[in-house]
Amino acid sequence: MGTQKKINRENLSPKEALAILVDGNQRFINDVKRDQNLSLIREELKEKQEPFAAVLGCSDSRTSLELIFDQSLGDIFSVRLAGNVACKNAIGSLEYACKYLGSKIIVVMGHSNCGAVKAACDNFKEGNIEEITKLLQPAVSNEKTITEPHRNSKNSDFVSKVCFLNVQKQIETIINQSDIVKDLLQKKQIGIIGGVYSLASGQVEFDLQSAVL
Ligand SMILES: [Zn+2]
Repeated sequence: MGTQKKINRENLSPKEALAILVDGNQRFINDVKRDQNLSLIREELKEKQEPFAAVLGCSDSRTSLELIFDQSLGDIFSVRLAGNVACKNAIGSLEYACKYLGSKIIVVMGHSNCGAVKAACDNFKEGNIEEITKLLQPAVSNEKTITEPHRNSKNSDFVSKVCFLNVQKQIETIINQSDIVKDLLQKKQIGIIGGVYSLASGQVEFDLQSAVL
């Protein structure tokens, strides 16, 4: 069993926040969870929270953020919607975490074999599910390398390319639609990064190239 040093949340830089997530993900992959006294942590947190990271992830039951990053109660402000879409409510939640709870990094995390991404690849429309796939369509359109008749969910290469593009697109949407996020990024008080979680390996591959840290 591993342990984790207490996080100095106030003085944490966005890069240090990312490093904590990377380390936690490595523990998860290696199956060496840190020791946790949950009743003690619950007691410490009963009056306030200071989650060091705000993550917009998918609702997929296999992508529990606290497990994937081996974090505890109070560590991750977790915003989860099918397809990790940055709708206004999701952006509002991220703004709240960064501005009022002190989160130092926003992570937008997609994952392999995502049902919502697959639905968008097939232009699936039904009930309110359409509200989700609509927000994923820009990523489908942004994928230019694969041609018909291979642009559908049966093509895993297409699905994973759209998944990656979707993470980038949602980050763009967050920055474009949030003056609060833009301001905090400019002041270097927070960072933002995308990542894709592999259901098979357990690894989150972060996209350092397009990150603002
Ligand atoms: Zn998903």
